[in-house]
Amino acid sequence: MSDIRLTGITKRYTRGSAPAVDDVSLTVADGEFMVLLGPSGCGKTTLLRTIAGLEHADIGTVHLGDRDVTALPPRRRDLAMVFQGYAVFPHLTVAENIGFGLRMRKEPGIEEAVRHAAGLVQLDDYLDRYPSALSGGQRQRVAVARAVAVRPSVLLMDEPLSNLDALLRLSFRSELKALAKELNTTIVYVTHDQVEALSLGDRVAVMQAGRIVQSGTPMEVYDKPVNRFVGGFLGTPPMNMLPARRGADGWTVAGHPFAVPHDGDHLLAGIRAENIEASTTARPGALPGRVRLVEPLGSQLLVTAAVGEEDVKILTPTDFPAADGAELWLHAAPERVRWFDPATERALGR
Ligand code: ATP
Repeated sequence: MSDIRLTGITKRYTRGSAPAVDDVSLTVADGEFMVLLGPSGCGKTTLLRTIAGLEHADIGTVHLGDRDVTALPPRRRDLAMVFQGYAVFPHLTVAENIGFGLRMRKEPGIEEAVRHAAGLVQLDDYLDRYPSALSGGQRQRVAVARAVAVRPSVLLMDEPLSNLDALLRLSFRSELKALAKELNTTIVYVTHDQVEALSLGDRVAVMQAGRIVQSGTPMEVYDKPVNRFVGGFLGTPPMNMLPARRGADGWTVAGHPFAVPHDGDHLLAGIRAENIEASTTARPGALPGRVRLVEPLGSQLLVTAAVGEEDVKILTPTDFPAADGAELWLHAAPERVRWFDPATERALGR
């Protein structure tokens, strides 16, 4: 096991272009499961490949444990990687695939190590099969087993679930989490799927345009986004962002009086859909609105309400009487509102 320390990593693919990774510093603790999350093109894969040694940073250093590995090739870094497309060898059996890295390293006890790794991903009964006789999920498990079989001190994964269908993705995600606990290896995991990031990571580093804009526990980044981008990127639906203005009669949000605990003239009120309580009767401090759209999600209703000029998304119990066009009142507890400066888009705190 080992910790990972990235210091001031900058990587440009072509001279003069915007950096794919821009001055990133990040420490991943020994045994920690760190998720790199962000939209397509934000630099996640480049950063992961820089840790692996498949890319080299223009500026910055990579330390694994107490070793400076910045200039070392991948094979000298003691790490394993699982890629998006399950790169299993079609002409090798499951057992041969899993043992591949061990044979390359000429390590003893291959058979036992293969059986152990296969057991971790529940492939014990498939050791003699060829990949063509496996499902997508099973092939991806072979790739994971092959990576963990070498007992790397660092395990890197790049969107390993993205080729699986929705149901398999869900079950494999749980398996991966259980496996990570068992392995106790330092893991860096790349995804653009925020649900996956929140469910898997001990910590999540949210990336935007080559930079890490926020890192923290899943609940920290979800509940306390540092800026509008993070609030919008995490959560389904994204955090509501309602304009607040201060006029002669005090603050209004979406045109209605509202208590705002900050100075200034213009702010944005960030409120998550599940933190808004909808009611069919007026109550003090609630914003009046009208139902525009109702989307049943099975366990809840996703209601879009028009409040002034704004659309507000609310999650309600399924028995909430949300008929199209019906009046409703929306209330959010003050401690559940996160305030942002519209000019900088940064959070002001609560
Ligand atoms: P995705 O989720 O789509 O894989 P990502 O967040 O992993 O995206 P990267 O693949 O790291 O992003 O790419 C970051 C930026 O670097 C993008 O603008 C991309 O076009 C560019 N880039 C990546 N690889 C190369 C390359 N080999 N040559 C030139 N530019 C590249």
